[in-house]
Amino acid sequence: MPLYEFRCDTCAETFTRLISWDRRGDVRCPHCGGAVRQLLSTFSTAGTQSGGESPGGGCCGGSCG
Ligand SMILES: [Zn+2]
Repeated sequence: MPLYEFRCDTCAETFTRLISWDRRGDVRCPHCGGAVRQLLSTFSTAGTQSGGESPGGGCCGGSCG
């Protein structure tokens, strides 16, 4: 089952729940029992800097010697 992250509209409590997709509407805040909204996954925003690691000047880092 997937892990979803929720945030309470009332007390701003954030928590994660391991539930199936069609049951995420039944989730309530464990702190105050209020309505919660699902947060989006954040793992897609990490690691935007990749490639172009050679600023110029230096060896190739491997096969030159
Ligand atoms: Zn709450």
